[in-house]
Amino acid sequence: MEEHRTEIASLGEFGLIDHLTRNNETMQAGTLLSVGDDAAVVDNFGRQTVISTDLLLEGVHFDLMYMPLKHLGYKAVAVNLSDICAMMATPTHITVSIGISNRFSVEALDEFYDGIYAACSQYNVDLIGGDTTTSHKGFVISITAIGEVAPGKFVTRDGAKPNDLLCVSGDLGAAYVGLQLLEREKKIFMETPQVQPDLENRSYIIGRILKPEPRADIVTWLQENDIMPTSMIDVSDGLSSEILHLCTRSHTGCVLYEDKIPIHAETREMAFEFNIDPTACALSGGEDYELLFTVKQEEYEKIAKNSNITVIGYMAETTEGSNIITRSGKKHALTAQGWNAFKE
Ligand code: ADP
Ligand code: MG
Repeated sequence: MEEHRTEIASLGEFGLIDHLTRNNETMQAGTLLSVGDDAAVVDNFGRQTVISTDLLLEGVHFDLMYMPLKHLGYKAVAVNLSDICAMMATPTHITVSIGISNRFSVEALDEFYDGIYAACSQYNVDLIGGDTTTSHKGFVISITAIGEVAPGKFVTRDGAKPNDLLCVSGDLGAAYVGLQLLEREKKIFMETPQVQPDLENRSYIIGRILKPEPRADIVTWLQENDIMPTSMIDVSDGLSSEILHLCTRSHTGCVLYEDKIPIHAETREMAFEFNIDPTACALSGGEDYELLFTVKQEEYEKIAKNSNITVIGYMAETTEGSNIITRSGKKHALTAQGWNAFKE
C-alpha cells in the first residue's frame, strides 16, 4: 500500500507537468531553452545532431508486475541513449511523452521520473520537454533522444567491408535469462503469493534486465583511441539478428565464432538451470544494449587492449554467406531467430 496517494486530477495536466519537472535542471551548455515553452532550443556549436525515438507500451514492452517504476523510467531513457551511442554519438538531450490513466497516482509518476532523472544525471543528458496525455489502455511512454557528434564522425550500419573484424562490447544473453527468471518467479507468486521470489545470487542477470546501461563509455574510448568503426549497431534484439542487419546493410557475409561470444558465468549457470543453450541466449535473447561494430584489421592491437571489447569474428564476402562456426568446428548459417537451425 502506498503511504499517501495524490490523484492526478487534483493537479490537472499543467499542474502535473509542473510537478514532474519542478526540479529539472539542465547541465548541457547547448540547452538554451528547456521545459516550459512551445519548444526547446538547443545550440549544437557546429556539431551534427543525431535523433532517435522509441515507443514503449505496457504489456508489450514492459510489465509493471516485476518492473519497478523507477527502473522503468531509467530503462526507458537508457535504451534510447543506446541508439544514440550506436551512431558513435554522445547523447545530450531527451524528451519524454507519457500516456497515463488515473490508475497512477502522482507518487507513482514521481517514482517513474526519479528513474528518468537518475539516467539523465548518470549520462549528463538534459530533459528538455515532452507531452502528457490520457491513455485508457495501459501506460504509454515515448522518448526521443538527441545526441551530437563531430561533423561526419557518426557511424552507420552499412560501412562494413569483407575482412573487417566483428567486435562486441560487454557480454550477451544475461538480460534474456534475467527475464526468464523474473517470469518464473512471477508465475510462482501468482499461484502462491506467500512465497517470496528466489532471486538469490542472481543480481547480475536481474540488473541486466532491470537496469541496462548504454555503452557511452565504449563510444568515448573508441573516440579517444582514434578508432573509427566501419559499421555499428546496438544489440537490442539478439546478436544474430544484429549481425545480419550489419551484413545486409553493408552487403557482406560474416564468420562468427561460437566460442568467442562473451557470456557471463551467471548467465551460463542460469541458462543451464533453465535447460537452454547459453549461446542461444546470446544469439536470440536480446535487450543486452551492448555495441556491435566492425573495425579494420589494423585496429586489432588497439582493440585487444580493451577488456570490455571482444572480437567475435570477421566480415566476409556476400557469396560466403553469414555463418557461425560452432565449438565443435561445424559451420551453420546464421538466422535471425536462431537456434533451431543451429542445434546439432
Ligand atoms: P503544448 O500544449 O505546447 O504541447 P504542454 O502543455 O504539453 O505544451 O507542455 C508544456 C511544457 O511542458 C512543454 O515545454 C513540454 O515540452 C513540457 N512537457 C509536457 N509534458 C511533459 C512531460 N511528461 N515530461 C517533461 N516535460 C513535459
Ligand atoms: Mg503538449
